[in-house]
Amino acid sequence: MPSTLHGTGVSAGLVIGNALWLNNQRCSVPLKAIAAEQVDDELARLAAAVDLSKQQLDALHHSVKESLGDDHASIFTGHQYILDDPELHKRITATVKSDLCGVEQACEKVLAEFCAEMAKIDDEYLRERLVDIRDVGERILCNLLGIDPIQTPEQGGEPRIIVADDIPPSVAARLDPARVAAFITASGSRTSHTAILARALNIPAVVAVKEPLSCIRNGTRLALDGASGVIHVDPTEETIAIIERRNQRQRAWMSQILSESNQPAETLDGYQVRLVANVELPVEAMNVRQRYNVGIGLFRTEFMFINGASLLDEEQQFIDYRDTAQAVFPLSVIFRTLDIGGDKFLSELNMPHELNPFMGMRAIRFSLSRVDIFKIQLRAILRASAFGKVRIMFPMISTLDELQQALATLEEVKNDLRANKVPFNEDLDVGCMIEVPAAALLAERLIQHVDFFSLGTNDLVQYSLAVDRSNPDIAYLYQPIHPSVIRMMKHVADVCYANGKRVGLCGEMAAEPLYAPLILGMGIHELSMSPVSLAPIRKLVRSIRMFEAEALVAKALLCGAASEVHDLCRNFLKASCPELLFDDNADNGGGNGTNGGGGAR
Ligand code: PEP
Ligand code: MG
Repeated sequence: MPSTLHGTGVSAGLVIGNALWLNNQRCSVPLKAIAAEQVDDELARLAAAVDLSKQQLDALHHSVKESLGDDHASIFTGHQYILDDPELHKRITATVKSDLCGVEQACEKVLAEFCAEMAKIDDEYLRERLVDIRDVGERILCNLLGIDPIQTPEQGGEPRIIVADDIPPSVAARLDPARVAAFITASGSRTSHTAILARALNIPAVVAVKEPLSCIRNGTRLALDGASGVIHVDPTEETIAIIERRNQRQRAWMSQILSESNQPAETLDGYQVRLVANVELPVEAMNVRQRYNVGIGLFRTEFMFINGASLLDEEQQFIDYRDTAQAVFPLSVIFRTLDIGGDKFLSELNMPHELNPFMGMRAIRFSLSRVDIFKIQLRAILRASAFGKVRIMFPMISTLDELQQALATLEEVKNDLRANKVPFNEDLDVGCMIEVPAAALLAERLIQHVDFFSLGTNDLVQYSLAVDRSNPDIAYLYQPIHPSVIRMMKHVADVCYANGKRVGLCGEMAAEPLYAPLILGMGIHELSMSPVSLAPIRKLVRSIRMFEAEALVAKALLCGAASEVHDLCRNFLKASCPELLFDDNADNGGGNGTNGGGGAR
């Protein structure tokens, strides 16, 4: 029976494909008794399945390395190690011989024993490796049974739409865009880090689906719109035809605005706007300059750490930062120091469980509590500053004291480098994010110590309005254009202007055509966003007049409700660049599908 599900579209794109549940890959193992003479045949089957698994992992390693780089590919090197583990082979062989059972049964029994033993280990990192052992075990079993190892659809096969209750950022970072057509989750939100990563990897995604996902099984045909958040389950031929037509229109529309992407980001009345990219992974940073010809306004360095099995040492970090700075040169890159905590964790750090992680040991608080890790990162960034235009930015500053401590630590690291004659850029700009209301209200004092601010509205909205940015049940309260939020943003912009300092915005709002005029009208002329949003926002910038955007801000500041601001923004966009008004186009089956909306409705 065709049905329709509704969620939040967080990464645009129209996709038709078959579903695949994440973590739902258990094979059913037949029970088989064998005679002693059959033992060798069974072990030969095991050897063949292991060989095939090796080939599959090699292919996966290769393609992930090509598309996402070494960091991501290393997960499959880990899987190869598990596959080669002599203990695993010894135990399976012994079980086939002692139990006189089929090799599948032996394999399943040994894996269960392995996992039970590991689950007892009091080390979160090792416990997390259980997922990898299960993954490899299922791969061997699938190959023994002649079934596709479904977590990793084969190369050349149709990419699948991954379905899950939740996909943590660490798993999302490992999804291979070549094999994952889209993903759907029951939880999450537009500004959750998994959604941000989906946009970075250009994987269409719908999160926070309101209806139960239980109607979707492995192999169910789905048609998904990553912009509007609508999912058709078992779509009719007619629906598929409509979606394919929309897809064609969208591609044509995108290629038209992409063809304008070397035009300057300049308003009709001649104001230059600096468009820059948010990136999460070094490999993306390499592509940004080449494909989009922009600098990097936010490099979320924590994702380099989250993807690896362990903390990166100074040399590994330095190489990534240096290569990024060189790739982006002569444009600049802002490296934000670690924003661990909240919904981003590192198993190796054994961070304590917190009742309220977004309010807890996160970002600069973590760095200041682990100065050893902080200093290594600062050293690596400073050393990279000798190779390009590098800036440093501290996340989640909430007090002057915190900023001063971070700056003092930076100074210590600089002194150490000077003493050891290690080159770095003495004039390197240092900034901080304004993403906590306390920092916004203290902007006059904070700005005295830094060269620039970057408004992190994803967090500023959640902390100002007391609305968890990843909780779908209260997503209706997550209003980036809530009057309180825009007043705070305007205050921060005014403080920077009065002090002759730069201000940018790197929250997801920057990628929303509906809100960008409001941001620009406040005097925030540097917008940092997922690379896929650069072309539409450039189009928007080129369609508006700055003095009209300033007038929009003046009216918005008089509003008492987000819905009033929304209407103003909507009318503004309708008058200046109606093609970018997603809602209106969606009604008539069009839609640019650039961003999936987000924010107050
Ligand atoms: C923000 O809070 O707006 C931001 C850019 O930081 P993050 O999304 O990484 O928390
Ligand atoms: Mg933030």
